[in-house]
Amino acid sequence: MARILVVEDEIDICNLLRNELEAEGHTVFQAFDGNIGLSQVEQHHPDLIILDWMLPGLDGLSVCRRVRQNHLTPIIMLTARNEEVDRILGLEVGADDYISKPFSIREVQARVRALLRRIELDSRLTPVAATGGNTFASNTPATPAAPPPIVHGQLRIYTAERIVQLNNAKIDLTPKEFDLIVLLSSHPGRAFSREFLLQQLWGYDYDGFDRTVDTHITRLRKKLGPLGEKIVTVWGVGYRFVI
Ligand code: CA
Repeated sequence: MARILVVEDEIDICNLLRNELEAEGHTVFQAFDGNIGLSQVEQHHPDLIILDWMLPGLDGLSVCRRVRQNHLTPIIMLTARNEEVDRILGLEVGADDYISKPFSIREVQARVRALLRRIELDSRLTPVAATGGNTFASNTPATPAAPPPIVHGQLRIYTAERIVQLNNAKIDLTPKEFDLIVLLSSHPGRAFSREFLLQQLWGYDYDGFDRTVDTHITRLRKKLGPLGEKIVTVWGVGYRFVI
């Protein structure tokens, strides 16, 4: 079972979520404002975060953006507003899913289950993506012999063999370019900050090397030809892969 952080200032809702998720066997941490939520992420390294949009102090969008600088932890955003623009904005700063208030608890449980299942699959597909403080993923069994390829249209990525095919022809990528395309394409829609990519793929944890990521992305886009457009720049954040 997973470790779940619920960041929600409405105490009744926060407690309801805690009780229901604990009843499913999860360990639940609570935070009633954004700053505390952020510090709990560092303290507890949850497997999944349920994050309210409207929070005192630091709002949910800012919390999401800050979490994404260092962690891949799946995030479900809650919001009272039900507008497409909010949904897109939430996904652009790195939220994985989105639930509108008022919600049914069954819906939340279903989304949590789906997301936990997905990160379990992700961790088998992309070992690199499982190191973002994601203890749930690291508890899953060892990688099976031949994971299925990641497929987006004419792009096929065989992670175990480290082969990328475009229109059935192999394209030559450097190891870092390969790691980049695997990480981005196995989380379509999710924005990754340059800082996160640097730390994840190069192991740098200091500023000043943002250009490294940009340079690799530029080369990768060129090698992907028309599919290079699938790697889009997210203003003020970094990059994401679109389907
Ligand atoms: Ca709220």
